[in-house]
Amino acid sequence: MLLCADVGSADADLASGAIACPSCGGRLGPWGHGRERAVRLHYGERAVVRPPRGRCRACRATHMLLPSWMAPRRADGAGVIARAAAAAALHGTGSARLGAELGVPAATVRGWLRRLRSRAGDLRQDATAALGVITAGRDWPCLAPCGSPLGDALAAVVACARAAIACHGYAEEDLDALLGLFGIAAALAPAPGS
Ligand SMILES: [Zn+2]
Repeated sequence: MLLCADVGSADADLASGAIACPSCGGRLGPWGHGRERAVRLHYGERAVVRPPRGRCRACRATHMLLPSWMAPRRADGAGVIARAAAAAALHGTGSARLGAELGVPAATVRGWLRRLRSRAGDLRQDATAALGVITAGRDWPCLAPCGSPLGDALAAVVACARAAIACHGYAEEDLDALLGLFGIAAALAPAPGS
């Protein structure tokens, strides 16, 4: 699985050999598409995705190219889950209320929070490192502590997304894709072997 901020260009990038194989570093070529899936975005909006698949010309492994605003194998988008997690971590909003607002079972919200909390340390570390790279050579405010490991991790991810928009030509509409790309999507992926 590969996460792309701009899945719209994935087909062309596969055709031109611009995408590297995560297994061996070879070049991926087009290899059909995965099954169609529906993802819930904000306010009940839904997006239907048929993710392109690439196959490595060297090692022949196949990889699905998922837009980074998706969370792998979850029905809700990375932005929806990140906002719910921020409400829980920063404002103490309960899972039952978040679930009712989003139209998902409270147990689903608890599952998101459990996964993100268990990976908060790595999420924060990776996003903080990425922030240093994105804002290199610029004045950028330091991250203020948010009172919990998950709050700190989310603040670092949001800072990366904001810095990418401010400094690297991304648009406000790319926010969810950037939140996914800077760690939310990977952190929500099921544990290996589950
Ligand atoms: Zn390969």
